[in-house]
This record gives sequence, structure tokens and C-alpha cells, in this order.
Amino acid sequence: MITIDQISLKDKRVLVRVDFNVPLNDALEITDDTRIVATLPTIEKILRDGGSAVLMSHLGRPKAGPENTFSLQHIVKHLSTCLGREVQFASDCIGEEAFRSSSNLKPGQVLLLENLRFYTQEENGDRDFAAKLAKHGDVYVNDAFGTAHRAHASTAIIAEFFPGQKAFGYVMAKEIENVGKVLNSVEKPVTAIIGGAKVSSKLTIIENLLPKVDHLIIGGGMAYTFAKARGGKIGSSLVEDDLLDKASEILVKAKAQSVEIHLPVDSLNADAFSNDANTEVTDIMAIKDGWMGLDVGPKTSILFREVILKSKVILWNGPVGVFEMPRFSQGTKELGAAIVDATESGSFSLVGGGDSVAAAKQFNLDEKVSYVSTGGGAMLEYLEGTVLPGIAAILD
Ligand code: AMP
Repeated sequence: MITIDQISLKDKRVLVRVDFNVPLNDALEITDDTRIVATLPTIEKILRDGGSAVLMSHLGRPKAGPENTFSLQHIVKHLSTCLGREVQFASDCIGEEAFRSSSNLKPGQVLLLENLRFYTQEENGDRDFAAKLAKHGDVYVNDAFGTAHRAHASTAIIAEFFPGQKAFGYVMAKEIENVGKVLNSVEKPVTAIIGGAKVSSKLTIIENLLPKVDHLIIGGGMAYTFAKARGGKIGSSLVEDDLLDKASEILVKAKAQSVEIHLPVDSLNADAFSNDANTEVTDIMAIKDGWMGLDVGPKTSILFREVILKSKVILWNGPVGVFEMPRFSQGTKELGAAIVDATESGSFSLVGGGDSVAAAKQFNLDEKVSYVSTGGGAMLEYLEGTVLPGIAAILD
């Protein structure tokens, strides 16, 4: 893997694709700077090595053309504070002013370009647009894992203009390295925990993971499709009837590949999709008509904990209940606690993809696991086994 550690940055203008797609409030102030902070080590390394940095990013979803709400101008002040130096700003990523500023950059200086998505060519992966952007730098660095699954001009297409002069930043490198620890682990047992709402959205992940794991824990809404496929009565729980055969097929495939699948044995059911509903715990195969399973039951939590505690490598994707409602968050909380305990005993744990990151943060577990992925959609596609365009473009 070629990172910025393997490439000479001295006296170079380094064009860095960062992910500064941070949330802003109505006053256009940053409400969560995690993504900015994550990429500071990459920028600081470039400056320390005697290079200058031209930063480019998207922010939000502008429809067509510039919109003040989505201007990266709003983050200049905070970025300057974080870096302890003034950050210059170019109000058009491919305008004359921008090219003047980037060509005048001195070592140690930083320039931030305006939102790339003010041009539709960015998301269309337009080659001419990428060629223009490429003029801003001598070296190209991609540090935006969150958009690595998109073949956009600045994330993938641009790389061809930097033969031998392209590298991953530290955010990207860490994501690749940590997912690799799970997917290519020599340490065993490896356990994947797949939760979330629907089987359909996790099917490819499950199929991709089967040859790579020893245990597969399945929880959340999708567990009820598996329960029904095994002949259970699931009341009005979430179900995908068109995937019943597929669920049975997965169970057979897992057995053939010696993967132990762990499904919930009991379920916390509610008579309405509400935090104030009446609740009861039953066997997951015997849910009454009109009741829906919204969390795993206590026996399941004990069972999942036992599997997690004997695992050397753990991947967690997706909550095992409707964790957003306090009454149905217990299963996800206990699952997270088991992962933390395993981590404290020396296991490697990765939380990634979508809502499990939100759950880990909500229960303050994010600092206590080995690694929390920064890219929701990108991580999901990575786990599905997709070659991410943003990664492939650097490796080419
Ligand atoms: P996903 O984005 O597929 O990982 O799904 C996450 C969502 O699944 C969360 O919003 C949870 O509330 C939801 N979820 C988890 N368990 C259940 C369940 N038993 N019934 C309905 N939704 C669920």
C-alpha cells in the first residue's frame, strides 16, 4: 500500500481529496468536526515534510451550482485553528483565482478549494474536470474514505494524471489496514455480527463474509426473516417474504463452509412500534399475532456474549434492535459491552458501516473498541467485497 510515508513531499504541491462533509447548523457552524480532525495528521505530515497542501472536498448535496449553505468557506476558520496556521480559500475550485493561488503556494501553506459538487462534473466523473483539478498539484493524495466507493472526478478519475505520484492519506490507509485485519485474519476465531433492519441490504455482505469468518451472529430486524424461514411464528415483525428461500440457503451454505450461525433464541416484542408500547419476551419462533419483535431477548444477549468473548477478531455491523428507542436498546447495548470486554482482553474489534457506528457512539463504546470506521456507505460496500474506485485508482 502506497501511503504518504512512501512518497517525497518536499517542495511539492500536494492535492489532497479530503472528506470535509461535516454537519452545519442553521447558523452555518460546524456541529461535529470528527472528519476534519481525522485528516489533520495527513495535512500536518505534508506540511512537516516541506510540502504545501491544496485541499478539495464536497459538502452536502448542492443541486446545481454554488449555494452559500454548502460553501466550504464555512469551515476555513475552524480548519485554520486546528492547523494553527492561516488557511487560504479559493471561491471556485477550477477558477482562475484558484489556479493563481495554488501555483503561488509556498511550502507550509494550505489552500482550500470551494465545494467540488458545485460542478455536476464531479459526481459524473468527468475526465476534463478531473484534468483541470489535477493542475492544482504535483502529487495526489486521497484521504476521503467516506467517498471511496464513488467513481467521482476527484476521488478516482483524477488519479490517472499522477502516475507514480499518488498515495493514500492516513485516514484511507487506516481504514484499509483495519478492514484487512478482519477480512484477512490469521487469528481465529473470527466473528461477524450483522444486524440492522433488512436482510436485503446485508445479503451481499453476509455472502462475502461466509468464507472469511468462523461465527456469524445475526440480529436486528433481519433475524425475523430467518426465524420465519425456519418455520417460526413471528407475528407482525419485520419480514421480507421474498427472501425466505435465500435465508434458508444462507443457513445451508454456512453449514457447508463450517461457519456457525447464531440467531436470536428469544425476542423482546411490542404491541406497537413505539417506546410506550406494551412489551413481552417470547421465544423468537413463537411471537403472537399482532406483536412485533423489536429487540433480542435476555437469553440471546447471554448467548451472543459467549460467542463474542471467545472471538479473537470481531466485526460489528448493524444494531440488533431498534436502539433509537430506549426500551429496545438493551440488546444492542449489551452486545456492545461484550465487544468492549473482548477488546479489553486482547481481541481486535472493528465497528463499521452505518448505524452500528451511531449505536457505538450513543452508548459511549466508540473509544473502547479497536477501530471505528469513518465511512458508512463506503465500509458497507467494502464489506460486500466491492473493489472501491477510490482505492483501486491509487493502486493502479
Ligand atoms: P441498517 O441501516 O440496515 O443497519 O438498519 C438499522 C436500523 O435497523 C435501525 O434504525 C434499527 O432501528 C433497525 N432495526 C433493528 N432491529 C429492528 C427490528 N427488530 N425491527 C425493526 N427495525 C429494526
